[in-house]
Amino acid sequence: MKLARSLVLIEIEEDSLLAGAKAVEQAFSAAIEEQGLAQEIRVAETGNLGIIGRGVVVVIYPEGTTYVGVTEADVPEIVSEHLLKGRPVKRLQACLAPCRDREKKGLGLTREQPRIVLKNCGIIDPESLEEAIAVGAYEAVERVLTEGISPAGVIDEVIQSGLRGRGGAGFPTGKKWSFTAPGEEKYLVCNADEGEPGTCKDRLILEGDPHRLIEGMLLAGYAIGAKKGYIYIRGEYTLPIGRMTRAIEQARANDLLGDHILGSDISFDIEIKKGAGAYVCGEETALIESIEGKRGYPRLKPPYPGQMGLRGKPTVVNNVETLANVAPIILNGADWFRSFGTKTCPGTKVYTILGHAANPGLIEVEMGTSLREIVYEYGGGIRNGKDFKAALIGGAAGAFVDEAGLDVAMDYDNLRDYSAVLGSGAILVLDEDASIVELLQGILHFFAHESCGQCATCRSGTDRLVDILSRFCSDAGTEKDLDLLLRVSKLMQEASFCPLGQSPVIPIESALRAFKQEFLDYKPVLTHS
Ligand code: SF4
Repeated sequence: MKLARSLVLIEIEEDSLLAGAKAVEQAFSAAIEEQGLAQEIRVAETGNLGIIGRGVVVVIYPEGTTYVGVTEADVPEIVSEHLLKGRPVKRLQACLAPCRDREKKGLGLTREQPRIVLKNCGIIDPESLEEAIAVGAYEAVERVLTEGISPAGVIDEVIQSGLRGRGGAGFPTGKKWSFTAPGEEKYLVCNADEGEPGTCKDRLILEGDPHRLIEGMLLAGYAIGAKKGYIYIRGEYTLPIGRMTRAIEQARANDLLGDHILGSDISFDIEIKKGAGAYVCGEETALIESIEGKRGYPRLKPPYPGQMGLRGKPTVVNNVETLANVAPIILNGADWFRSFGTKTCPGTKVYTILGHAANPGLIEVEMGTSLREIVYEYGGGIRNGKDFKAALIGGAAGAFVDEAGLDVAMDYDNLRDYSAVLGSGAILVLDEDASIVELLQGILHFFAHESCGQCATCRSGTDRLVDILSRFCSDAGTEKDLDLLLRVSKLMQEASFCPLGQSPVIPIESALRAFKQEFLDYKPVLTHS
């Protein structure tokens, strides 16, 4: 009998909840209780364990055995075989890349990555402040207070670290903070309005380690002189909203938010604002309008939010992943952060690997990691033994990268040379059978649907792009249409008001660069009513 202390860690996040994670958790608790083992075996919840799309994921420690697709019906077998007899249930064991290392180390895929942002995700119970503190939460705030680091000192450390905004544009974070206009009243806004199809890394960060974001916001607010912060989050993100709300309440109850934090002169509090699902509200000025209770129309820039943002006051808008990097930088120093990644893009990047990869998942790798490593080492290659065709990097507003781009060291600068962007961190892997024509059609429909209609080039241009591409879907497209598609999207790039209208050129141009013939050869699948 194997009665050493064990831990059954169950991933509770939006996707696993839909797959029945709560029922599996209850089944484990009941089975362990029934065996009289509640003192020896603990059942606990955690955030994403690095695996996406494999149902309920359970890890059993101390072995670190990962089970995927677990149902209530599997629980008695796992308890009697694994927990009581020490025999893993092989049929449920995850085979994740790189499998050889997993078997050797007995650890999950996620443990082999240089983890800064995701360090505690899948390790702690995200609803427990005690567990967060046990793994170092709020130590950076403590350092600032005990060593008397000034706001300028915090900004300088972030500038020296070379941290660049992880929301897509890659603007240096410390510089952005330093550009904030002086003023008595300022705001910090965390952009958690993750609206692109297939993009979910910010949700998984929020679900897995909410106190990491609170600490990052507290440090950023201190640095820029803001006393109030907002988290603007997609309204559909029920679980992250719940976890963030609980974490904020815990922080307030423990003097980590509110007036005179930990007895100091620093005051800062956070409020959650739910978005209504408009993609354009991911643009910082549209987001600010939305927080103000108005329709989410992007504003004309300048003035930039750093000068005149929320309620006319200087405002800094940072992405979730950006803010999640701040506490480790302040705690460990800029040089430590610069030891990861590339010279111009230090640190790590969080990606979601989706699509036809053998092992879709959430990963954190050093900036500069190639697409080949991401697809083949972390993603396990292509499902069902098929060949790689392309990857759509950065979500709907991203670029198609074919085999020729597999070895590009992915960071903001190198990808720009390849006319691609890191964007939302979503990597949609496509196998040899994927249709670029149909994918592009879906993307253009998305832009047409999400255009806010404020400027004519985008309002009409997105519809025009859909019309042109639909000719190929009814077998009537020509090379001239492809030229027109590119011309219209370039015109939109020059004349549109915000990134939504400026972006369709990126997937269009990249698709035509590598797959033009596929459009000309495309034969639509005819359906009969
Ligand atoms: Fe609205 Fe499109 Fe113009 Fe942006 S580019 S303001 S989404 S119409």
